[in-house]
Amino acid sequence: VRTASFAYVRPRTLPDALAALGRVGAVALAGGQALVQSMKLQAATPTQLVDLNDLPGLDEIRDTGSGLEIGALVRVHQLIDSPVVALRAPALAASAPLLGDVQVRNRATVAGNVCFADPRANLSSALISLRAELVVDSSGGPTTLPVDAAFAGFRRSALTMGDMVTAIRIPAAAAPVRGTYRELARQQNGVPIVNVAVTLVGDPVTEAGVGVGGVATTPLRLVEVEEVLSGSPLASIDTAAVAALVTRGDAEPYEDMHAPAAYRLRVAAVLLRRALEDLKGDANV
Ligand SMILES: Cc1cc2nc3c(=O)[nH]c(=O)nc-3n(C[C@H](O)[C@H](O)[C@H](O)COP(=O)(O)OP(=O)(O)OC[C@H]3O[C@@H](n4cnc5c(N)ncnc54)[C@H](O)[C@@H]3O)c2cc1C
Repeated sequence: VRTASFAYVRPRTLPDALAALGRVGAVALAGGQALVQSMKLQAATPTQLVDLNDLPGLDEIRDTGSGLEIGALVRVHQLIDSPVVALRAPALAASAPLLGDVQVRNRATVAGNVCFADPRANLSSALISLRAELVVDSSGGPTTLPVDAAFAGFRRSALTMGDMVTAIRIPAAAAPVRGTYRELARQQNGVPIVNVAVTLVGDPVTEAGVGVGGVATTPLRLVEVEEVLSGSPLASIDTAAVAALVTRGDAEPYEDMHAPAAYRLRVAAVLLRRALEDLKGDANV
């Protein structure tokens, strides 16, 4: 399988990268773990690859005081090795070891996982549960975008031409954070069929975040479920009743050769119930 022909640039500064990304047909290359396969299948046919890997200062996870900032070149394995991610973003910490194999995790970036906009992406559901936002830069200057608003359709992000995600921000919580991630996959470390991530702040819960992947053409935030969880003491959460609220709302259903749409919703409800049961039993916070 061969890619279509393309030009390649490797800028060393952010302004140069943004200028290159502003050209028609230009696409960012980060870890290449999704993009290169798409190019081989000619599902993506960029005329210019803008390799981000020489850009300085984007490969760190920083605690800014108001939250965590994950640079655009932070690799998935860095999430697994980070004590601050385990403490502040446990759903993200739980989702990372299940993404691909060790070679994939060593190359793949967190931002690339979100920007690829696969509805089943591990990290997208976790970041939705954490109310994360993307820092998006372009020739027009930086702006922010909540992660749950970053998706326009199956493998179609809401970014526009010339946009580059420079970081992902996870806001600090006012109380201890519990979080977990559950998935159904055909094989260990394969792309999940369905996944669910839950983040609960405090007990009673002052803030709840629930992300689900694989039930619609985009990853979803389950707002109704979050509202029911908010205010509840952990011990009194009726996990089965909450799980029964799982719906994809108005979102377009997603199905493929692995599972029909109705089955995906049922699995999501089961995964949510199990995730909540995990968190009720989590005495470590
Ligand atoms: C064997 C294998 C197993 C895999 N298993 C899983 C799995 O279990 N779970 C899962 O979720 N995924 C899985 N993937 C998919 C892939 O590894 C992830 O989606 C990965 O995180 C993509 O990140 P990347 O840095 O490699 O992105 P790239 O492939 O470089 O880019 C992906 C897309 O994001 C865009 N992009 C990247 N960075 C930016 C940025 N900073 N700003 C704007 N746009 C940007 C690119 O232009 C491209 O469109 C697997 C892939 C392989 C090859």
